[in-house]
Order: sequence, then structure tokens, then C-alpha cells
Amino acid sequence: MSINLNDFSIEKAVSSFSDGSLSVKDFVKESIDFFEADKNSKIPLNAFLELYDDVISLAEKADEEYKTARENGKDAVAELLKKKPLLGVPFAVKDNISVKGKRLTCSSNILQGYVAPYNATVINRLVEAGAIPLGRCNMDEFAMGSSTEYSIYGPTRNPIDRDYVSGGSSGGSTAAVAANQAIFALGTETGGSVRLPASYCGIYGLKPTYGVLSRWGVVAYGSSLDQVGLLAHTPRDIALPLSVLSGTDFYDDTSCNLPESETLCDLQALSDAEFAKLKIAVPRQFEQAEGLDKDVEAVFNSTKKWFESRGAKIDVVDLPVLDASIASYYIIALSEAASNLSRFDGIRYGNRKDPGTGYDDLYVKTRSEGFGPEVKRRIVIGNYVLSEQMSGKCYKTGMSVRSRIQNDIAKLFENYDLILCPTCPTASFKLGQKVDNPMEMYLSDLFTTFVNLARIPSISVPCGRTSKDNPSASNMPVGIQFAGKMFSDAKILRIAQNWENDHPNCGYPLSKEEN
Ligand code: GLN
Repeated sequence: MSINLNDFSIEKAVSSFSDGSLSVKDFVKESIDFFEADKNSKIPLNAFLELYDDVISLAEKADEEYKTARENGKDAVAELLKKKPLLGVPFAVKDNISVKGKRLTCSSNILQGYVAPYNATVINRLVEAGAIPLGRCNMDEFAMGSSTEYSIYGPTRNPIDRDYVSGGSSGGSTAAVAANQAIFALGTETGGSVRLPASYCGIYGLKPTYGVLSRWGVVAYGSSLDQVGLLAHTPRDIALPLSVLSGTDFYDDTSCNLPESETLCDLQALSDAEFAKLKIAVPRQFEQAEGLDKDVEAVFNSTKKWFESRGAKIDVVDLPVLDASIASYYIIALSEAASNLSRFDGIRYGNRKDPGTGYDDLYVKTRSEGFGPEVKRRIVIGNYVLSEQMSGKCYKTGMSVRSRIQNDIAKLFENYDLILCPTCPTASFKLGQKVDNPMEMYLSDLFTTFVNLARIPSISVPCGRTSKDNPSASNMPVGIQFAGKMFSDAKILRIAQNWENDHPNCGYPLSKEEN
């Protein structure tokens, strides 16, 4: 039976599994076939690094559970789905999230051979809800990058045009969803790594409020900024997994509950009356940003028009501190990274390279051979920033800018419901175009980092495409961010659902035939 994964939302998949019209096994086989065919194709997408070897047996187990419940009648099926609302739904996992007994490498040499000894809390919660971890996805090494080109496995390409980058650092998870290899995926964010690839590949990508998802079992990059994020074709397909994922976790002291999480199970768009009351802020600093592509600006303008046509009120606001967000982000992220990555020393973690001449040499050789150039660059900068002579000048300034961003944004949300801005200054770019120019690569994050610094939720919504005659990216997807105040995750998802209702299928950039 040939199935077009493009046709399935989570809801439709679960209802087809439960009425017996589709087996979980046939469903996951589609992804496996696609993966095998892609691996052997001329220009592989390289989204998944591996599919887990127990996928089929887990699918068969789920089919068994459905069958037994069906035999016991409708109530038994309803009872089963109450306990396991995602039974049989396969999902993709970024290679920095622990899945017990499976390899975890952060796309780095230093973690070759490492096998996760336990499940991350996000994996545990999805598995308890019946979902099936499908496989491990490519990423920028240790989540440092914006294109998934800094990976020892080679780049993940953009499924819409394989000459282009998928975006990063969660490029593998994103491309897997965009190419219909998975219904939804887990990525991680420190400064935009879910929203940016979502924008480049034409799907939805949510960075939840800091703390709403546990970081237990997720390899740390910049701990005060890191957050697990979700990628899918529709806001509803993000909301449902979020409903089982969110909430406090004994193992993560920064974790917290999400108010209104019960509304996520059956996400509804805002009513017309609610929508017409929305007050939206557009930061002048982003509207006038240098390097903003004309077509991205055009998509942004048409998105604003859509909001206004439904009665929302838009104001351009001044947030001068945003001009410093990228500088503050890179100071804080790189300092935290330098300290977090010190555990990869060949003794506690990491592939040991021991020349047999003492600890210092072991440490140097392990890290010199284990880390790639971008990770090394960041460790060096981070340690420099944290060094005694620099810390007062750099780190403290970075932190005080962050406090101002947090305060100014919190104040803005006293009067507004949403900050609206493009996800990225440009659409996707060609492979190789920025890989040797770190400054240019860092500027891809111009519009995303303030969200992580302020710990607020934001979703990248596929709002259009560049024009066909765009000289750098013809007819490529453009994402617009809907960012809300802390803990307004459900609300921004509802607003994104308004967009989805008015622009059905905008989060399905490919039909199966086009792959
Ligand atoms: N591109 C940003 C960086 O390289 C963000 C990465 C991320 O969110 N993990 O730091």
C-alpha cells in the first residue's frame, strides 16, 4: 500500500490507526522506504543520519494495542487514546537529544561511539504518550550554526531546492518534516535553530517559553538560552505534542508548567472577535534592518495586511536595545558554550585520544581532534570572554544588555499581544555561500536571538515565497515570526492556526511527487 505522508496530520493518522484503516507499520515503512531511497539518490537530502532499528517492532506493538482495543469496543479505543494520545505517531529526533540505547553524536567527531544511557525527559513523555522515535537527525556540530553545514556528516540540503541549505542548526529535523519523512520533529534552540530552518524549508517551527520543556537529557550549548522546539506542517501538529511535553520535571530545576496547556490538545484558532482585538508591535529596528531582502520585506508586508484585514491593530514601535541583541547573544551563548563543552575532555565524556604522555596532552589531543573548526572558534572566544581580564568588559556588558532586552520586551507586552517580524533577513542561501564567513553566518540570526534572550515563545509561520526572479533565492519559502509574552505559547499557536485556516497547506512545501 502506498501512502502519501503529505496527506496526514497527527489527528488524521491517529484516527486512521484507531479505526484500522491504516496500520502504524505501513505508515512508518513509508518513512523507511523514503530514507533508503534518499540515501542512494544522486543528491541525498541527508536529513536523517539513521533510522532506529526497533521502529518496525514498536509499530507492530502499537498496531497490536489498537487491535486489542478495537476488539473491546469503542470505549476501549477512547480509553487507550486518552492514555496514549500519540499512539503510533512517528517523530524525528535531533542528534543532541538522548534516546536510551541509541547513538548520540551532536554531529561531532568527539562523540563518535557514544550511546545515550537514558531517555531525555522530552523523549520519555512522547514515548509514554505512545509516539515512536523514528531516527536521529543531522545538525550543526553541537548546535552551533545556521545552515547545518558544520556537521561531520556533511550538510542537510533544503528539500525545496537541494542546492540550498536547510538552515540550522536543526536542519535535519526540519528537512525530515518538510520532505514528509516525519509528521513532526524535535529540534533545539539556543538562538533560532528551530525557527530559522523552519523559515528556510517552509514549515512551522516553535520555540516555546524557556522552561516549558525540560532540558534533561539534551546536550547543553548555552544553558540559559537552550530550549527544545517543535517542527511540523501545522500549528495543531505542534500543539498536540506540546500538550504532552510541557510541564515541570524533577530533573530540571528551570522547568515550569504551561498555563492553558489543556487548550493545546484540540487547538482552536482565535474567534473573529478575539482576533480583531489583537494589538501587534512591529519593531522599527527590524523593519529597517540592513540586509533585509526585498522579497522577505514583501512577504512581511502582506502578512501585516492580513492581520489588519482581520481587524488587528499594528503599531511600529521603537526598541533600540534590539540593535545589540546579536552581540549580547553571541557573548552569552559562547561563554556558556565554552563552559558547557569543558566536559568533553576524553575523561568524563568524549572519544579519548591518549598519546600516553600525561593528562594535558590527552586533553589537548582529544579536543583538537574531536571538535570541528566552528566549535573550536566558539570555545576560544567564549573562554576569552570569560577570562579574568575580559570578563568585566564583555560578559557583564552582555548580561546587562540581556536584562534590558528582557525588561523592555516585558514592558512592551503590557500593551501588545504579539511582536511580528520576519524570522530571517533573507530566504535560504546556496550551500557553501556563508560557510567560510562566520560573521555573515552569525547575521542570519539577526531577528531570532532576542526571543531566546527574553525567554519568550515564538513561532515561525510559513507566510510566503520569494519571487521567481529573486537573484539569490528564487521562489524559496519565507517565514514570519509571531512572538508572544512569556507563557503565551498556546495563544501564539492559536493565532498561527488563524493563519493556517486562511492559508491551508501553507506548511506543506512539497507534495510527495515533487520530492
Ligand atoms: N545560529 C545560532 C548559533 O549558531 C543559533 C544556534 C541555535 O539556536 N542552536 O549560535
